[in-house]
Amino acid sequence: MVNRIPRRPIRYAAVALLAIAPLACISETPDVGELDPVYAPPAEYVEIVSLARGQTFGELLYGAIDANEQAALLLAFQEHASPRRMRQGTEITLRYRPDDEWLRGVDVAVTPDETIRLDRTIVGWESNRIETPVYVDTLYASGEIETVLWNAVVDNPVLADLTFEDRNRLIDHLDRVFQWQVDFSRQIRVGDTYRFAFEREVRPDGSMRAGRLLAAEFVNSGTPYHAVYFDPNDDGRGSYFDLDGESVRRAFLLKPLAYRRISSRYTMSRFHPVLRTWRAHRGVDYAANAGTEVMATSDGVVIHRGPKGSYGNLVEIRHPNGFITRYAHLRAFARDLVVGSRVKQSDVVGYVGMTGLATAPHLHYEMMRGGNHMDPLSVDLPAGDPVPSDDRVRWRTEMTGRVALLETIPRAGPVRSFVAEVESQQEGAASQPAGGAQR
Ligand SMILES: [Zn+2]
Repeated sequence: MVNRIPRRPIRYAAVALLAIAPLACISETPDVGELDPVYAPPAEYVEIVSLARGQTFGELLYGAIDANEQAALLLAFQEHASPRRMRQGTEITLRYRPDDEWLRGVDVAVTPDETIRLDRTIVGWESNRIETPVYVDTLYASGEIETVLWNAVVDNPVLADLTFEDRNRLIDHLDRVFQWQVDFSRQIRVGDTYRFAFEREVRPDGSMRAGRLLAAEFVNSGTPYHAVYFDPNDDGRGSYFDLDGESVRRAFLLKPLAYRRISSRYTMSRFHPVLRTWRAHRGVDYAANAGTEVMATSDGVVIHRGPKGSYGNLVEIRHPNGFITRYAHLRAFARDLVVGSRVKQSDVVGYVGMTGLATAPHLHYEMMRGGNHMDPLSVDLPAGDPVPSDDRVRWRTEMTGRVALLETIPRAGPVRSFVAEVESQQEGAASQPAGGAQR
């Protein structure tokens, strides 16, 4: 249980919000002397309204322009977006000429990243699509974990400027990157620390459009895990590697559920609530809300799909090298899933329920090999491909730069030195890293 762990204050390390990009392009502004201020009447005045529930764009424009103008405006709008797909709450800016309140333009924020600007011209209405400008910055954060969950990240005061959704997205990124190394629902210990450098695109209102973890370190019970982003083809489809250039991906996910919906306790042996006896428990239970998606932890073939005694609704998957995984007590199976279906790692196979011998919704997860049960958390499984040898030199350069970003963040707890690891790796490296990353 989460609240059995004695609470103690979280120590947060300092964090900086840095805008990286513009530094290089600041040039000296020539001195042009002081100019007299010029006062001009406002070019227009604006009225900002939002689309009410059930209201159409046309209804909203009623009174501002006549029916013919409205038809022309909607036609121009349709070049970029559908007026029927406008959501309730869509922000619409009506721009008027100040002297006679003649409607000269309309801006429709169809998504947070896109505005359709409609201008009234001599020949009718014209439309343009305007992308919301974004800037890119890098977010640095570190902290110590106080409970079993990522509350430390959510509650990190230096991330307080981020919306709750954005903080959750950040956690999703961290969780996805470390999902093969650490089961955040059960392996986390008080005193574990994290730090990360996260590059993000930010809208003018401060909300995040997209982001990417550049480098992260997670220290679990004294063992550091690293993940450094590397994109050898520059196609935006890079992946994460440890400091040795080994993939962080493993043949099996540590857990078949997304972590955040889980609240669970770990028991090796327990009093069975239905059988009322102590018995060995040869699987891992994940308490989760009914309906939570259950994912295949590795590629394989479905060999059972249906009820099976105390397991209730069960999916059983056979994987390469003699591994079998089981997912029990399901409320429902994924659509189209049948015996013989091929599944990929992270494919949804079913939904958490409490069928069979279960008193509350949870997932019972088992892993076996050659008929023997195994602890999914302690199995050492083969990894994905390492950095290709052709890309090693570039990888070292980029990795060193990204690790240096992490190095600027004070550690939240005592961990093994990062710098030493990096330096030892660079011995014998073909070229010196660029970018001044070395210390
Ligand atoms: Zn169980």
